Amino acid sequence: MTAVTPFAPKQPIAADPLDPGFGIYVHWPFCAAKCPYCDFNSHVRHQPVDQERFVAAFLKEMETMRRLSGPRTVTSIFMGGGTPSLMAPATVDAILSGIARHWHTPDGIEITMEANPSSVEAERFRGYRAAGVNRVSLGVQALNDRDLKFLGRLHDVDDALKAIRLAREIFPRMSFDLIYARPNQTVADWDAELKQAVSYAVDHLSLYQLTLEEGTPFFGLHKAGKLVLPDGEQSAILYEATQEITAREGLPAYEVSNHARPGAESRHNLTYWRYGDYVGIGPGAHGRLSTGGAKIATATERHPETWLSQVEANGHGMVNQEVLELSEQADELLLMGLRLTEGVDLARWQMLSGHGPDPDREQFLIDHGFIERLGNSRLRCTPAGMLILDAVVADLAC
Ligand code: SF4
Repeated sequence: MTAVTPFAPKQPIAADPLDPGFGIYVHWPFCAAKCPYCDFNSHVRHQPVDQERFVAAFLKEMETMRRLSGPRTVTSIFMGGGTPSLMAPATVDAILSGIARHWHTPDGIEITMEANPSSVEAERFRGYRAAGVNRVSLGVQALNDRDLKFLGRLHDVDDALKAIRLAREIFPRMSFDLIYARPNQTVADWDAELKQAVSYAVDHLSLYQLTLEEGTPFFGLHKAGKLVLPDGEQSAILYEATQEITAREGLPAYEVSNHARPGAESRHNLTYWRYGDYVGIGPGAHGRLSTGGAKIATATERHPETWLSQVEANGHGMVNQEVLELSEQADELLLMGLRLTEGVDLARWQMLSGHGPDPDREQFLIDHGFIERLGNSRLRCTPAGMLILDAVVADLAC
């Protein structure tokens, strides 16, 4: 593996609302343990993972993706998982160097890596920084030990605070995640925890409600009546408290679950939500690419070792590559764009769907306070609409 440092990050490139950007997502599919609420493509291995073999496969799949995408200028790279902070710095360096060989990667692009507090070490963090990572997203999830244990996390609050301090020291940008709407969590509990979180935050926080995903241990426990989550009304109260506190503290929501100081939004996630193009590399990664006048959706094999063998044999682990109909693109644009407080560009939606919103449906949703127009050009959900986002999207997309 090389020790090349391909990036010299300067200031993050400002997000241009008219340009969704072009992102590259790399999926590292391994975790030290499986959290009981998680349905991500993450796997636990009791033998060391052969990182060099995976790097070779990432680089190989990159070549295939580069042929599909053509030459593009990258605005962001995101290493997600799984737990990417289980990668050695040399692995991260080799992946970033590979991306820089295949696509144009100007100075200052956003390069994010997800990290878990249990796998944080100063030396590793410095290695990631030297490789070019300029933003870290920490899976803190809770700021009390009882709830961290309940969530099956391997770290405690001391580990989390140590990781936050280190991330602030080493990386220009840092975000961390919390999960709320936990069993028996009161508004007062969450209010105190969130204020504490805001005091540790730099410019970005991701705040997710605990949800029950089919196939997870929490889903089974809930079905058996052994796990009770806050009901819809309590969840709505917690959501509204979240919006109020973060807005007051200067980190307003820019997406359903994401909060940032203006200008510090995640460039990479904005590419998804603004329905831009992105390449997905690694097991279970998805991509969207505009090529030859069409938009194609790609998806790779989820199982890590099967993906590895497929890449070694065929140069990629793709299990799906399909051209999206214009109507499918319109639905995806709406689904993504309505998550954002900036809303969705109506002209773009109209162009893809061949029609604007149905006037009666739109008026109904406006009258009930779920959506609003931003001038003539954009449509967005109100905070009340964000609480029933799926229903609003389904209603408008018809
Ligand atoms: S650390 Fe993250 S990706 Fe891994 S199992 Fe837990 S929630 Fe899932």
